[in-house]
Amino acid sequence: MERILALKKRMASLAFIISLIVAVIFYVQSNKQKPAPMPTGLNPIVKERTQQLIQQAAKKGITVVITDGFRSAAEQDRLYQQGRTVSGKIVTNAKGGQSYHNYGLAVDFALKTPSGKIIWDMHYDGNKNGIPDWDEVVAIAKKLGFKWGGDWPRFKDYPHLQMDFGLTLADLQHGKRPKESAITADSK
Ligand SMILES: [Zn+2]
Repeated sequence: MERILALKKRMASLAFIISLIVAVIFYVQSNKQKPAPMPTGLNPIVKERTQQLIQQAAKKGITVVITDGFRSAAEQDRLYQQGRTVSGKIVTNAKGGQSYHNYGLAVDFALKTPSGKIIWDMHYDGNKNGIPDWDEVVAIAKKLGFKWGGDWPRFKDYPHLQMDFGLTLADLQHGKRPKESAITADSK
């Protein structure tokens, strides 16, 4: 009788330990972050801020044109080949997944003159206020929370504006995506 009781006790504690292990494994598995899928368009906040940029520049008499926004990884790979295996000028050092454009977090801009010409002239002062329009657009963009490619220490990318929401390219490549709560940009 004593022996059976002891055996029962041991069986019970064994069952308890096993269920504890199972619970821990289940908990760890369910908390593993699955990499988020690649975005298929521009991030809604980036989109909204881009619209604000266009509007605020227009108030100063500057017409901003967005020449590029979201780019799929395949499109990025194709662009990377330009000037390498395909004819043309090299326009990017980023392969698919290596550009903020691939995550819908970047746009490229240019200026439009009254005659409808798209220009990348950084000295052009269309509104004749003594400040190059390009600089004015960049200043507005920065206030809206964008980072400017012209500030990059290497490979300066003057038409490029991006919002990283505190995420590095490595974070994005590992499947992290901006959270709605990550928006701290000052929109005033
Ligand atoms: Zn760009």
